[in-house]
Amino acid sequence: MISNFAKNLKIHNSITNKKESFKPIEKNNVGMYVCGPTVYSNAHLGNCRTFISFDLIFRYLKYLGYNVRYVRNLTDVGHLENEDENGEDKVSKKARLEKIEPMEVVQKYTLDFHDVLKKFNTLPPSIEPTASGHIIEQIQSIKQIIKSGYGYEVNGSVYFDIEKFNQSNKYGKLSGRNSDDMLNNSRDLDGSSDKKNPQDFALWKKADKSHIMNWESPWSNGFPGWHLECTSMSKKYLGDRFDIHGGGIDLKFPHHDCEIAQSEAIDGKNPANFWMHANMLTLNGKKMSKSTDNFVLPGQIFDGKNKIFSKPFNPNVLKFFMYQAHYRSVLDLSNDALLASEKGLSKLISGFQLIFELECNENESDFNVDKWVSNCFDKLNDDFNTPMLIAELFECVKFLNNVKIKSKNLNIVDKETIEKIFNSILFEILGFDLNNDEPNEKDSKTELIELLIKIRSQARENKNFKLSDEIRDELLSLGIKLNDNKNDSSFELI
Ligand code: AMP
Ligand code: ZN
Repeated sequence: MISNFAKNLKIHNSITNKKESFKPIEKNNVGMYVCGPTVYSNAHLGNCRTFISFDLIFRYLKYLGYNVRYVRNLTDVGHLENEDENGEDKVSKKARLEKIEPMEVVQKYTLDFHDVLKKFNTLPPSIEPTASGHIIEQIQSIKQIIKSGYGYEVNGSVYFDIEKFNQSNKYGKLSGRNSDDMLNNSRDLDGSSDKKNPQDFALWKKADKSHIMNWESPWSNGFPGWHLECTSMSKKYLGDRFDIHGGGIDLKFPHHDCEIAQSEAIDGKNPANFWMHANMLTLNGKKMSKSTDNFVLPGQIFDGKNKIFSKPFNPNVLKFFMYQAHYRSVLDLSNDALLASEKGLSKLISGFQLIFELECNENESDFNVDKWVSNCFDKLNDDFNTPMLIAELFECVKFLNNVKIKSKNLNIVDKETIEKIFNSILFEILGFDLNNDEPNEKDSKTELIELLIKIRSQARENKNFKLSDEIRDELLSLGIKLNDNKNDSSFELI
């Protein structure tokens, strides 16, 4: 059954730049497509912010009672370096550098991505299709685009004809950018491109000899352009028109504008009713990004092994930190911000847990629970306004504290309602997982071993070989073998 709260849900639509009432195309069913990661390196905390934002949206839509089909792809081919038509494929490059198979790269970073998102207690999507698993569908999409007159082939590669498209449509509906911007975005440094116009983008690229990932097609042995996979896979799993298409704000242009153009070329339809964009996580005021070396991995924050933060922080604290900002606002990561979030979350959880020890009466209550519940859902319905929702939760905590010191009264019926709604918001909708609060046993063990290694090195420097041998032997008897290198030691568990 769909909750009564569902009818008030408003979502900001990037296409109209307005908050609009949300109503699914198909009663009770919601189709949501979110552009997933390119699996060529570890997901950094910025990537995670986007996926945590969409996890909240997925969770809330499910909470409201909708059947949600959530499709989030994995880009394992076709995403080229520097968004450059002649750049090297990101996965292939990693495979070349690490001297492994491209699919080994994909496997390694897909596992890492899943592992990290699991630590944040995000729900898995309903379908997680890969670009390389949908080459047939992408070839089909290209055939349709060529047939409708917006794609052309040159020397085995196929391009999207933006000039032709603009004669009857408008490229850049989402970002408001136009084909001139596309021109500035495209690099044709040596003038060797086959494109009619530099702003055209690739649908299919003929593979040169060095390109290991390639497939047969009517045009050449090659590989699909990056923008195409999302068009083909969203159509396959959600149909020509579905409810929500999301991603990070940096994907608006050119990726999502190209997706819209491709879909319109195929069937005349903008694929999504709502386009949603999560804003960027920044570090030192700049977008968190691998390519500028301005990033931190979630694992480095969980175990405290980084040069940025004074202590480790658990996934709940990082999530709480993210939810304290609206998903469409830029958010800057810093030590002070995480320390404040850690305090805030602990106050919120312990405040809520007070409810289990409060004395209640039969009739009197000094809290308008119905109003509080509707305020909480108003905030969620206002384009998933988590900072305002958190403020409502703290309002309730303030009241519970007053009940504890007996300056306010709470009756048993209201107590049960608060408990139920608070629980649902914290765990079902915001997806906190208190089991994540425990320090990781393995990490503290590792830290202890590292401390002993440090003491032993000191002993060796002081020529106290008795102590150093003792530490080595004692550790060995515990199944921890030290391997001495020239300047330091490493350990292995045996
Ligand atoms: P990529 O693997 O680069 O394709 O990125 C995966 C997702 O992470 C995309 O939706 C990006 O928009 C998003 N993303 C990348 N950098 C950031 C960041 N600093 N903050 C938030 N989201 C990001
Ligand atoms: Zn995409």
